Amino acid sequence: MKYPQINIDLGKIYHNAKAVVHMCAEKDIEVWGVSKVFCGAPEVVRTLQQAGVSAIGESRLDNIIRLRKQGFDHLVLLRIPMLSEIEKMVEMVDICLVSEMVTLGKINEAAKNRGKRQKVLLMVDLGDLREGVYHQDAYDVYKKVKDLDNVHIVGLGTNLTCYGGVIPTSEMLTRLPRIRDQLVDTLGQPIPIISGGNSSSIRLLWQGEMPKGINNLRIGEAIVLGQEAVAKEPVPGTQQSTCIIVAEIVELQRKPSMPEGTIGRDAFGNVPRFEDRGIHLRAIAAIGRQDIDVGSLCPMVEGINVLGASSDHLLLEVDNSHNIRVGDVVCFKPEYGALLAAMTSPYVTKNWVE
Ligand SMILES: *Cc1c(COP(=O)(O)O)cnc(C)c1O
Repeated sequence: MKYPQINIDLGKIYHNAKAVVHMCAEKDIEVWGVSKVFCGAPEVVRTLQQAGVSAIGESRLDNIIRLRKQGFDHLVLLRIPMLSEIEKMVEMVDICLVSEMVTLGKINEAAKNRGKRQKVLLMVDLGDLREGVYHQDAYDVYKKVKDLDNVHIVGLGTNLTCYGGVIPTSEMLTRLPRIRDQLVDTLGQPIPIISGGNSSSIRLLWQGEMPKGINNLRIGEAIVLGQEAVAKEPVPGTQQSTCIIVAEIVELQRKPSMPEGTIGRDAFGNVPRFEDRGIHLRAIAAIGRQDIDVGSLCPMVEGINVLGASSDHLLLEVDNSHNIRVGDVVCFKPEYGALLAAMTSPYVTKNWVE
């Protein structure tokens, strides 16, 4: 065995994806399964498609190109594209998310050259201040895009909670189908897809508050970790421990809980703070900030606390009721940040469990 490693339970991810697809289908909502936290791994993409998602959402064009070459279809680029990647994007992507007029112009040109009509989801910012044309400007922008022959606006989308932390409410999300109705009434072209957000919107489903007219969600976390993205509540019918990070102990010693000498800045420019807990048992696991996000890593056994980490060392306080020794391994449940880092780190071995 090579450590650190992450064990990814594809059976649980399949089960979760099925549960989410089913829950959404009951409200006539299709699901785009988001594979970005797994860097577009084909194992996960296949699993999501088998569970019935209608498309795959990926944030990196490189991953989409690879998936396309591996024979996958129905690929949506989630990150609004860079001007420098438009040519490739138009070649490789089925639907892209866009919020800039300049970008739409470039897409139109590139699509014309390929003899293609590029499908686009026009992003509308309902107030979270991440991507999207501000909702008050949606009409003006859409009116202009309509004249671009090689751009086909297939829908409107919004993204909430990711940056501004804005919690989706029924009132806020209702704006999206309302904008659609206004555009269709005045400009006369159908806009079939109304994409109401990510795993922070899914709560509205089981609370019975999803506005009418929302017919698409782009879901990663709710499938991957079985939780919605606001209060981290479990999604009904899903399992939570889909991924486990395993690291090996390389030091176990009794030491003071306070460092000696004058405290300056740590390796990351922060002034560390310590709580004096006397002499205690400390362990070092061979995993660090190059592989995980320390704040979102939860030990799976009682009696172990995460104290902090440097690039390569994770410092733990251990009560040792489990008789841990050097050479043993410790398991952690990652939250979203740690999962993202572990999947992205080339130093973490990925184990796909069927
Ligand atoms: C990451 C992302 C999603 C999925 O977010 P989750 O919270 O993981 O469901 C949806 N849409 C866009 C644009 C994204 O970047």
